[in-house]
Amino acid sequence: MAYAIPGKYQKYIMTDLPKYVEVTGHLKPAPCWIVPGMFPGVNLAIAGNDASKIVGAPHASPHVHDHPEIYLAVSDNRGAVVTEFQLDGEKFQLESPYAVFVPPGTKHCFTILKCDSPHWAFGVGVMDWKGDTVT
Ligand SMILES: [Zn+2]
Repeated sequence: MAYAIPGKYQKYIMTDLPKYVEVTGHLKPAPCWIVPGMFPGVNLAIAGNDASKIVGAPHASPHVHDHPEIYLAVSDNRGAVVTEFQLDGEKFQLESPYAVFVPPGTKHCFTILKCDSPHWAFGVGVMDWKGDTVT
């Protein structure tokens, strides 16, 4: 390592990742890269997987929570990740890149249908969301 981390910044740096967290509806502990309270005033949960390692394996049963969640899949090329979503019983598919806002109270889950090379898919829990009720 080229430089030591200055002491005043050490509380802002986390390298012991991911944190495996039990999440409502999830079939196994979620690999979380950011958890609420990890940094001062940051009330986010960011879980994510290499989508190529979870093809065909639902990450969770359909579940509901009182905060919104944003599903995010990043890729340079369209269609690197193909995902089936279920929102309140309705199913649809998207090709990456995508960001999907899941309103609070919406029953949701997803399954990666295709991903042939390492690409990351994230679920971002916005724990202290202050938006209007979404209809
Ligand atoms: Zn969720």
